[in-house]
Amino acid sequence: MLLNEVKAKQMLKEAGIRVTDTRFAASRSEAIATSKKLGFPAALKILSPDVVHKSDSGGVKLNLKTSKQVGNAYDEIMASISRAFPDAKITGVSVQRMASPGVEVIIGVSRDEQFGPFLMFGLGGIMVEVLKDVSFRIIPISEFDAAEMIKEIKGFKLLTGFRGQPAVDLSALEQMLFQVSRFVEANPQVRELDLNPVFAYPDGAVAVDARVVKEDSRDTQIEKKKKEGPSGSLDFFFNPESIAIIGASNNPNSPGFGFTTQLLEYGFKGKIYPVNSKESEVLGIKAYPRLEDVPGNVDFVICCIALKHVPALLDTSVKKGVRGVHIFSARGSETGLAESKALEAEILERARDYGIRLIGPNCMGIYCPGAGISFSYDFPKGKGNVGAMVQSGGSSTDIVKYGGLYGLKFSEVISYGNALDVNEMDLLSYLAEDPETSIIVAFIEGLRGNGKEFLELVRKTAMKKPLIICKVGKSRAGARSTMSHTASLAGSSQLWDIAIRQAGGISVRDIDDLIHMAVGFNFLKPVRGRRIGTGGSGGGRNTVSVDEWEYHGFEVVPLPQEIREEFKRRGAQLWYCLDNPADRSISVPGDPFTVGALLKEMSKHPDFDIICADIAAEDHPYHRETFVNWIVNNLDDYIRLYKESEKPFFMIFRTRPLGVAELDHWFWRDVSKMRSRLIEEGVPFFPGVDKAAEVLNAMIDYYERRESKS
Ligand code: ADP
Ligand code: MG
Repeated sequence: MLLNEVKAKQMLKEAGIRVTDTRFAASRSEAIATSKKLGFPAALKILSPDVVHKSDSGGVKLNLKTSKQVGNAYDEIMASISRAFPDAKITGVSVQRMASPGVEVIIGVSRDEQFGPFLMFGLGGIMVEVLKDVSFRIIPISEFDAAEMIKEIKGFKLLTGFRGQPAVDLSALEQMLFQVSRFVEANPQVRELDLNPVFAYPDGAVAVDARVVKEDSRDTQIEKKKKEGPSGSLDFFFNPESIAIIGASNNPNSPGFGFTTQLLEYGFKGKIYPVNSKESEVLGIKAYPRLEDVPGNVDFVICCIALKHVPALLDTSVKKGVRGVHIFSARGSETGLAESKALEAEILERARDYGIRLIGPNCMGIYCPGAGISFSYDFPKGKGNVGAMVQSGGSSTDIVKYGGLYGLKFSEVISYGNALDVNEMDLLSYLAEDPETSIIVAFIEGLRGNGKEFLELVRKTAMKKPLIICKVGKSRAGARSTMSHTASLAGSSQLWDIAIRQAGGISVRDIDDLIHMAVGFNFLKPVRGRRIGTGGSGGGRNTVSVDEWEYHGFEVVPLPQEIREEFKRRGAQLWYCLDNPADRSISVPGDPFTVGALLKEMSKHPDFDIICADIAAEDHPYHRETFVNWIVNNLDDYIRLYKESEKPFFMIFRTRPLGVAELDHWFWRDVSKMRSRLIEEGVPFFPGVDKAAEVLNAMIDYYERRESKS
């Protein structure tokens, strides 16, 4: 139901939102009388449920200075409306006083299927219509969000006193955005809202037009709630006392072989019970024909048999005190077949009745090096502090392996597939509380839980630890492929990034970016500024880097004279040439100036926020000894600097993909050794400035937002 301008403004006014005083007039004479009462000049507008854009069809008359003009305007409005919409139902007209001119902005509200109502802000006129220069936030917004929404639009300058125009009252606009958000929160029946335009003044702001669409009935809100899984920690998945593998096997090509081998290989300390109807031993340990034959209770079951046997397996599991089952088996709802969906529904119902939690179906399950559980034969055995929840199985392997190439190690990785029971909400809650996990990465194909509750959980989690999310299937084709993959309905695309960022999370495009972000948050000290001290290559490469840094909004500040003087004191030959970026090619063996020494001075100086050693593997116009003594050994300085620097420090380490022939060449071997040293020492590095800049910008944003909330 569309509320007309008068009713909409009434409702907004009651919520404390400033609108022009607007009255209803049913006739020509009432319009004249009301305009006299409100004062001239007046504005008259058509009120009709059938006319949404009033001025387009001659339904708005402005600047009416006398009663006579008001009377004429009334006649003209009625005439044009009956021409344009002969069947329109006409309620009457609205009468208001002309507001003094201001900068026109727009505030709007619409609804997203996944995240509910969201707010839009933009500049009026062509800025919105042609340039689509708008910003969005999910409702409710904070005051911090309100300020950001305004600053974020490209036309922001027009609000700050451009070309002699007075600056507008930004805090009044922030206030209005905030109030609209509160209004929508308090009135869930509001589906859409438009304040178009709002006049912004040097002092205050007022909405001169308003449109509100309300839900007719209230009962759409009531959703059928699924029976929830038992709440409480999922610790038994990560620290079980005993594990039974259903379908354990001596056949190296079977998954049951893999899961059993890994428990042995990774040193699982609890009891291992292979279950196989035909074998009396699997991998040298006693096997049992059925789960019920296992002595005593079992904590955790890994199920590798066909999905159709799972309901019966659950019947036995409950008798054995099983708390969690990982269903590796696929061919569930991801097939799209009705019978598979029905089977999943039956499995879920039984699990809920028995109080058993399920991971999967159609997933790799758990890698928890600390507990000696792994789903892959060549994951690292050492534990780290990155927690990963990954809906896809293959991507979980990518994250562990590619992440390892940048030094990331994991507390636990959960590949959770179709998320029939344990879903993103459960896993995120677990990782948020897990003391072993200090940053979280998530790869999500589709949300299983409620979008708003997910955002709330992101918000709470991000206050505690960085949370990096890669949501795939945001594009149309992507949505189809996730649909068939893990039976996910990908959520709405546009708003996802905004919603995650607003909640304090970091939204990334792909697995590589997810890894770079994780490297930044895992290894760097909090980044709070964009003044960078850098160096490590020769002139040309350094200059390319500087250009890139500036392009990404960073400032390569000039080297302070006192640092030059310091190197003069130390006896550096070319002390007067030293600069930021530090030029490796002017260093001379034995000289007190080295790139590391200069970066170290920068790291102690208040002019710098971040320090970067930027080296390229290809940089070797020397014979082997010089390369090793000079360039490879510079690495020691950088590693030391990383450990000692008060400022966030990282490296750009430029290498190239290698073929096997290159692996035999001394140079590439030395370069690869350099990389391995960085990984071993836990020094963060990125493949180029663009990636590093993206990460640093996200970090600055994250810490700013987090601190604004605390
Ligand atoms: P619609 O958007 O339905 O065409 P509006 O009520 O927004 O109708 O009116 C059209 C334009 O008229 C507005 O964009 C604004 O520039 C101007 N206008 C409307 N009401 C007033 C007012 N009270 N004071 C000054 N200008 C107004
Ligand atoms: Mg309007």
